[in-house]
Amino acid sequence: MDTVTPRTEITMTSTEDRPGPRKTRQRTAVTAVMGTMDEFRTAQEVHSTLREQDESIGLATVYRILTQMADSGEIDCIRTPDGQAAYRLCSNGHHHHLICRRCGRTVEITPPNFEQWTRQVAAENGFIDLDHELELFGLCAECAAA
Ligand SMILES: [Zn+2]
Ligand SMILES: [Zn+2]
Repeated sequence: MDTVTPRTEITMTSTEDRPGPRKTRQRTAVTAVMGTMDEFRTAQEVHSTLREQDESIGLATVYRILTQMADSGEIDCIRTPDGQAAYRLCSNGHHHHLICRRCGRTVEITPPNFEQWTRQVAAENGFIDLDHELELFGLCAECAAA
């Protein structure tokens, strides 16, 4: 799935893609905020957290940085039940999530035999180049009690 694009050409012919001091600082700020959050958060939520910290950064920039970080695998991106993209800095390695649909509380889960089952069912149906998403949504104990 990950195609590695040679960047040599770009750096030799153009400086446009080179991150300037401002770009680097904004990316660092977003990375820092992601590191403090335990829940999946939308770009809007990450943006308002940054604004609370007096970080002058536009929502579009936050969204772009989050998308880039998700594309490079630095953070996880899921689709919430209401169709929004939400992001979280997770542990390394393949895993799935159990997510509170009210407060966003997230538990990383590894369903037993699930990966094996996906390969098996794909093989049985003659599918290759497999990819999958599996997130469980519910109410956490705290939200259920509230
Ligand atoms: Zn909750
Ligand atoms: Zn999996």
